[in-house]
Amino acid sequence: MPERPTDADPRPPSSDGPSSDGPSSDGPTNDGPSNEALFARACAVTPGGVSSPVRAWRSVGGTPFFVARGEGPWVWDVEGRRYLDLIASYGPAIHGHAHPKIVEAVVAAAADGSTFGMPTEREVLLAEEICSRVPGCEMLRLVSSGTEACMSAVRVARGATGRDRVVVFEGCYHGHSDGLLAGGGSGVATLGLPASAGVPAGAVADTLVVSYNVVPEIGDDVACVIVEPVAANMGLVPPVPGFLEGLRKACDAAGALLVFDEVITGFRLGPAGASGFYGVTPDLWCFGKVIGGGLPLAAFGGRRELMSQLAPLGPVYQAGTLSGNPLATAAGLASLSMLDAGAYEELGTRVARLAAGMAEALASAGVTAQVPVAGTLVGVFFAGEPVTDYAGAKASAGTGRFPRLMHGLLDRGVAIAPGAYEILFPGLAHGPEEIDAVVEAVAEVAGEMAPS
Ligand SMILES: *Cc1c(COP(=O)(O)O)cnc(C)c1O
Repeated sequence: MPERPTDADPRPPSSDGPSSDGPSSDGPTNDGPSNEALFARACAVTPGGVSSPVRAWRSVGGTPFFVARGEGPWVWDVEGRRYLDLIASYGPAIHGHAHPKIVEAVVAAAADGSTFGMPTEREVLLAEEICSRVPGCEMLRLVSSGTEACMSAVRVARGATGRDRVVVFEGCYHGHSDGLLAGGGSGVATLGLPASAGVPAGAVADTLVVSYNVVPEIGDDVACVIVEPVAANMGLVPPVPGFLEGLRKACDAAGALLVFDEVITGFRLGPAGASGFYGVTPDLWCFGKVIGGGLPLAAFGGRRELMSQLAPLGPVYQAGTLSGNPLATAAGLASLSMLDAGAYEELGTRVARLAAGMAEALASAGVTAQVPVAGTLVGVFFAGEPVTDYAGAKASAGTGRFPRLMHGLLDRGVAIAPGAYEILFPGLAHGPEEIDAVVEAVAEVAGEMAPS
């Protein structure tokens, strides 16, 4: 097992075990394989032992735990340890785990058949629901992952404009398709990769990577600018005032399309996502995570005239065997049905409570940190000033403090994503009591970190 990286703190990590809010035995009993044993087996049959790279804990050290089950804000590992889960599948589990309404919807759907390759009513209902919540999004198509949504939105933009060039922002993440990985955040940043081997130069020849929060020059060869309206894959970096408005103007002036990648912000920041929250309307949207209610489902959409470029109406091809999957649409509809104005208000209140508590805990321990908030989104940086771009996010990660925070929290039964470039995902299952337990754990961990 790799050593955990530590920061300059000379004190050893806490060894007094979990607090009363932490691991407990009221979950699965420890009669199956251990985390270590499962990870060893996993590593033998899948690269790094995981289905997605950040899950391997490479940047934070240690052995990942294997989840046996989840319920509400909690997950239990195969050894019976319980964690307050702020990973929440990186966003989809906004209602917590195994929400009865979602479980019921999925079970009922499964009993009626799980895939047909023929149209179903719930696809219509979900598309109607999404379009009715997001002004300007007139048509959409369902896909199975955010990667597909972004890839397809860019294809529509290129098809509609007859141009090839795509502008992306350093530190944003739009999935792992060839042309969009350049300069990416999330796992690409976590692993310190420039982009990826296996991506031919030709695939990124038309991708222009520029700095987040600065409106770039847009040439008349640009098909689209794709942006996370709130960057949430390099930690949380909100747009500075005027950035999104500036992008809208610059795209209009150049005849380029503006694509909002709302895979994280969509239906989390509010009923109309970031476009509603900031009052800037893109030409195309990418959705994912929350809209699938925990099942593989994503979507891209936009103005009718643009989406009409898609086959069978137009020349832009896109397809998917499991697109609009009956189980996924059932989960998505159940999830959205619980996301009314009151839910967002409640989530905002909890996020504010968490952010204020964390900021106070870190500050009073003398740990230099930022706890950025954008509506219902929250992150943490080890920085003296608010972070506005990828360089700032990298500097924060470079302090080496994140692994200490993550493992310290884990020792206290709080799970946050194992990468310095991920945000926290408190959801509607995290009540005030759970939020306060997280804050208390942060205070304890901060107390063990060297002031900085
Ligand atoms: C997660 C994410 C994606 C990719 O979605 P997958 O479902 O993992 O393919 C794309 N864009 C953003 C902003 C994301 O956070």
